[in-house]
Amino acid sequence: MTSPHSPSAAHLDERLDAVLARLDAAAERAGRDPREILVLLATKTRTAPEIVDAVRALHRRGRRVAVGENRAQEIATHEDPALAALESELAVPRHFIGRLQRNKARDVVAFASLVHSVDRPEIIDALARRAELAGLERDVLVQVNTSGEESKGGFAPDADTISEAVGRIRAAGALRPVGLMTIGAHTREESAVRASLRRLRTLREELADPALVELSMGMSADLEIAVEEGATIVRLGAAVFGPRAV
Ligand SMILES: *Cc1c(COP(=O)(O)O)cnc(C)c1O
Repeated sequence: MTSPHSPSAAHLDERLDAVLARLDAAAERAGRDPREILVLLATKTRTAPEIVDAVRALHRRGRRVAVGENRAQEIATHEDPALAALESELAVPRHFIGRLQRNKARDVVAFASLVHSVDRPEIIDALARRAELAGLERDVLVQVNTSGEESKGGFAPDADTISEAVGRIRAAGALRPVGLMTIGAHTREESAVRASLRRLRTLREELADPALVELSMGMSADLEIAVEEGATIVRLGAAVFGPRAV
């Protein structure tokens, strides 16, 4: 798919109405209130004005919104006054969702109130050190590789491993574990996608740690399954902004 013209506001509204209808229908099937689900905008490759438009349009529809950065080197391109104003006026939090390099921990800690992609012990240590040096406290999610796909980051999907990661986060100070994150299985087979997303929820149940409230799962392709399986944060890119060129 290609998008020959820059997306107009009308296209944004159409895409948003379509994706929110999907989200709402899934929430209804699961007996959940769709407005409790945080809509995180996955902003990679998008411009600051596109992000501002999407945040405003979601707010008009009464949704909770966060802005999710995927690439540490892209953070600077989103340092736009309009976006900063939205963040402070409308209290739109900024999160980090991308693969994290240790040497980017400082940049990420500086702007992200929640880091979703804590996928290995050395990243816990790097974020904790940088948060402490900056005098900041940051919320984090433990990324779990629920599909077992080698291309994906994340801790192994067993309760002991995750519990150990949570313990390491708490021991490091400066970081607060608030939930789990996963990227669903990369397949069109719905049962495999559902199994991977469901595993995140059952892991949270097994851990029975009252601090772990968030389940960050579900992207444009699998958001209905994620909502049915208990997602508290869905991370949406293409469904909101249109297909990505890169
Ligand atoms: C890009 C991205 C998303 C959103 O993907 P879409 O398919 O565009 O909705 C969600 N999570 C992560 C970690 C991403 O990198």
